[in-house]
Amino acid sequence: MAIQRLAVLTSGGDASGMNAAVRAVVRTALDRGVEVFAIYEGYQGLVDGGDRIRPMSWDSVGGILNRGGTVIGTARCEAFRTHEGRRAAARNLLEHEIDSLVIIGGDGSLTGANIFRQEWPQLLAELVELGQVTPEVVARRTNLTIVGLVGSIDNDMHGTDMTIGADTALHRITEAVDAISSTAASHQRTFVVKVMGRNCGYLALMAALATGAEWVLIPENPPAMDNWEEKMCADLKAGRKAGRRDSIVIVAEGARDRNGNIIGSSYLQKVLEENLHEEVRVTVLGHVQRGGSPSAFDRNLGTLMGHAAVETVLAATPESEPQLICLRGNRITRAPLMKCVEQTRAVADAITRHEYERAMDLRGGSFKEAFRTLRTMLRSLPHELPAGQKQLRLAVLNAGAPAPGMNTAVRAAVRIGLDRGHIMLGVSNGFKGLIEDQITEMNWMSVNGWASMGGSVLGTNREVPHGRDFYAIARTIEQRAINGLLVIGGYSGYQAPYRLFRELPNYPAFNIPIICLPATISNNLPGSELSIGADTALNTIVDAVDKIKESAVALRRCYIVEVMGRRCGYLALMSGLATGAERVYMHEEGIRLNDLQIDVKELVTGFKHGKRLGLLMRNEEAHPVYTTNVLCALFDAESDGLFDVRQTILGHMQQGGGPSPFDRIQATRLAARCIDYLIEHAQPELCDSAYIGLEAGGIQIHPLEDMPKMLDEVNQRPKQEWWMDLRSIAKVLAQPMPQTQVS
Ligand code: ADP
Repeated sequence: MAIQRLAVLTSGGDASGMNAAVRAVVRTALDRGVEVFAIYEGYQGLVDGGDRIRPMSWDSVGGILNRGGTVIGTARCEAFRTHEGRRAAARNLLEHEIDSLVIIGGDGSLTGANIFRQEWPQLLAELVELGQVTPEVVARRTNLTIVGLVGSIDNDMHGTDMTIGADTALHRITEAVDAISSTAASHQRTFVVKVMGRNCGYLALMAALATGAEWVLIPENPPAMDNWEEKMCADLKAGRKAGRRDSIVIVAEGARDRNGNIIGSSYLQKVLEENLHEEVRVTVLGHVQRGGSPSAFDRNLGTLMGHAAVETVLAATPESEPQLICLRGNRITRAPLMKCVEQTRAVADAITRHEYERAMDLRGGSFKEAFRTLRTMLRSLPHELPAGQKQLRLAVLNAGAPAPGMNTAVRAAVRIGLDRGHIMLGVSNGFKGLIEDQITEMNWMSVNGWASMGGSVLGTNREVPHGRDFYAIARTIEQRAINGLLVIGGYSGYQAPYRLFRELPNYPAFNIPIICLPATISNNLPGSELSIGADTALNTIVDAVDKIKESAVALRRCYIVEVMGRRCGYLALMSGLATGAERVYMHEEGIRLNDLQIDVKELVTGFKHGKRLGLLMRNEEAHPVYTTNVLCALFDAESDGLFDVRQTILGHMQQGGGPSPFDRIQATRLAARCIDYLIEHAQPELCDSAYIGLEAGGIQIHPLEDMPKMLDEVNQRPKQEWWMDLRSIAKVLAQPMPQTQVS
């Protein structure tokens, strides 16, 4: 049966990024020739009907990408929990001849959706029996297709790596904890910070990993010992003794002890004050975590999930069970909705039954790994080296342009290396430092506070060794007895190790494992779909573009925004997707004069028909002749005074700033794996070198000799760029009106 009418609603707790999802659902549906409605105020609107169910047009979802919350409203609705309420809802859907529902909400909302769908035939029969609808109406609408999207800041849904709103919530939490850390450090104070998460410790765990918190309490993994209070106070005291000035304890609202007793922030305050003999402050972050403009990640996640929801509705058959749109390893997928909801509930049940190990198992491998890493990062001092174990000397350096998250990665590498019992060496100024022997031994506290710092504290540059440099590097490696090298950097940070690898026959000293960790805002490295720094840069661009758009409210204006990325269009495309840019120019596609003529024509038509703002993103190296200047002059000349054209070149602000939570978390995860790799391979017969990255299947490590196979050396970017597939979605959603309406 062809789908004719679809409705979208948001329900339960609001989450940033829901608007992006609503926009994508509405526009994708219209583009595919499907009539689309919004149901205002969640299930309450469905039960009430009337003008709470409204047809949507292309423009009714314009200008909402950057707004927090949900513009179509959400509610908790008691009536929908009752059979009668759901019958009224069914009647309202029949009245509008709606046969597909996209529901954006948490596990409660999605459970409600599933019950509704199961009852659908019965509800229809009852409505006919009550004389509220005719059998003919029912005969036309025997089926109800349901697709769910998880909008929840908790990131608590099984089946999806991320839920819409969780990344923005993490932004709010890390901003707050960073701010608290600086005041805490000034006064040498202890703070307890309470974050949301009744049955899910994701926000608390990731916030602790992303900041310099010292203790964290989550529902899934209560402290193992009965006297955990003593241990916590002892750890905090040890931290102070080791030189920390601030102490921060992060507690999830559902944190409990082994016996299931909730650990409240006031209790923590009391315990800490009694033991530390100092004033302890409590900050309950509350609804701040829900609010604010969505992060770039949540905008794009909402957009891609909303788009996939409509595709799933269109592919559904009467037999299809309700589906949930998920993100798995950086790809949008789908899974049976009810199974995911049941598994999610299973975690809550395990916690209620005090089966904590099971709760952690159900959360999955990367959650457990993050928890293990966190335990090391939080220590005030490293473990002792086990007797008989060889102590390695591992060096860390930054290379290439600075990328936010480099310091976070160095911090993680140094602490994890020290905790495994090894000596950690910091190399200043990239490979130049290795050539000139600028090396210092790092200790636990030398990286204190680095998690949130932008730039590169070690110092970085683009120098790639050649000629006599190899001899100097070999000498440094030998004299310093370096057993392994971690290079955290961008393109030159990959080129340099590859050259050392090629020079191995000439310099036996190079027979040590070297591993490259991708850190560049350009996201142009092989073997990694996302490099550290790119998420921060994306957020910087999106914030700037939001402001630029606001500045033009009363004018007819077209902006051309130039972003970095060298010859990789990732930043241009993803920021275009997150800001609703109607055109993205990138090197991968090039620019033809013919394209520009079409673009000018579209702009003129748009502005003639009431358009007020045009937004075009241009990758800095999109074309050597059609520069941002040239485009600007060209469009201005052709605008005939209908609109004016301005260019904004965002420049180096994109490389700066404190890293986003995502970049901090991934930097820490990758650095932990790199150190393990170096330790494992630091034996003459195993001295393989490699590069690590985040790929669809999770963290992957590739041997260094594979680099030429994966790299387009001329354009300095990977041969395969996964995000190129997203171009068509960006094009569909940002066009001035759907193709189906263009005559
Ligand atoms: P969330 O969707 O964020 O988990 P809630 O659990 O409060 O939030 O659910 C939101 C709404 O979904 C509820 O107010 C109710 O209308 C509906 N709902 C939740 N659980 C059910 C259920 N078991 N049966 C029917 N409707 C439900």
